[in-house]
Amino acid sequence: MTLRVGVIGTGMIGQDHIRRLTHVVSGAEVVAVNDADGDVARQVAAGLKNATVHATGENLIADPAVDAVIVCSWGPTHEAFVLASIAAGKPVFCEKPLATTPEACRNIIDAEVAHGSRLVQVGFMRRYDAAYRALKAVIDSGEIGAPLMYSSGHRNPSVPAHYTKDMAIVDTAVHDFDVTRWLLGEELAAIRVIAAKPNSLGGDLQDPLLMVVETESGVLVNVETSVNIRYGYDIRGEVIGETGTAALADRGPVVVRSGNRVSSSVPEDWRQRFIAAYDVEFQEWIAAVAAGEGATGPSAWDGYAAQVVCDAGVAALYSGDRVVIELVDKPALYARPSERPKGSR
Ligand code: NAP
Repeated sequence: MTLRVGVIGTGMIGQDHIRRLTHVVSGAEVVAVNDADGDVARQVAAGLKNATVHATGENLIADPAVDAVIVCSWGPTHEAFVLASIAAGKPVFCEKPLATTPEACRNIIDAEVAHGSRLVQVGFMRRYDAAYRALKAVIDSGEIGAPLMYSSGHRNPSVPAHYTKDMAIVDTAVHDFDVTRWLLGEELAAIRVIAAKPNSLGGDLQDPLLMVVETESGVLVNVETSVNIRYGYDIRGEVIGETGTAALADRGPVVVRSGNRVSSSVPEDWRQRFIAAYDVEFQEWIAAVAAGEGATGPSAWDGYAAQVVCDAGVAALYSGDRVVIELVDKPALYARPSERPKGSR
């Protein structure tokens, strides 16, 4: 059976996911679209076999021809669209952020808990990346002993002019926060943010930033964001365990030895680096929804926890203090760990 999907927000990532759903993964068809810019939505629909253009996201969610919803609009709109999808009993894949405040995330959690089963998945695609999955499998196997430290590097060649220092935390490091929680299987407990000597290529931006994060069990995590580093989009990750270490391997399908140098390529941007992860993310989401599971990937709880860390990180950035990360009690609905590789603990 083909899953009939409606996409709200047909901007950059919305169009990319529509391409993926239409031409790359199997089992789904985009049957409805909506965007604040009606012209963009109509242009996108014109490239599809049979998609209705809706005037509002709410109309799209209510459309009986739509089995499941994908939210790719601007962050502040996510809460209302996710809540409307839950009210309609429809599975909803929401690009990050789940919502822009912890309170809004909790409204979603409350609605999903009242519904009684999972409907919401958040677009934390790193959990679907082959290298991160391999790293998690090593940690979970016990081969390197208990993790003691984790180092997460997030490097962008450049960022647009509207990029602010808060965005280094809420837009960039949010992925590092989520993947750290997932890799280590525990919540983050406190955060400090330290600004380094500024990169002169970043204008007035405070860049790079070093975030020192403590987990509940005391694992020390450093998250480095360097968003004007020019050489490429480079995602680093290394776990230091009691008896060994494990790191994401350097990228590039080929290693070149030439002119007294050994080199391999670095991705240009996040699309190139994570293109396969997005494909797996959607293939697994379609399979879960088709199997009647609603969602098995990153949950509303994961979206909430990441947002609380972001809030604490922004507070730490402005105050210079160590800020404690405080979560509400986790509802039983989210007790099952999501996205564990087969055979892991
Ligand atoms: P974008 O290119 O600006 O696209 C967003 C689209 O949503 C725009 O066409 C916008 O229209 C539309 N929109 C805004 N408000 C709307 C509403 N109320 N109803 C319907 N459509 C509305 O942004 P983007 O880069 O695709 O990002 C979209 C979301 O995806 C963001 O939350 C972002 O954080 C997330 N994202 C995630 C990843 C990832 O790695 N997982 C990567 C990129 C983006 P107007 O332009 O007319 O306002």
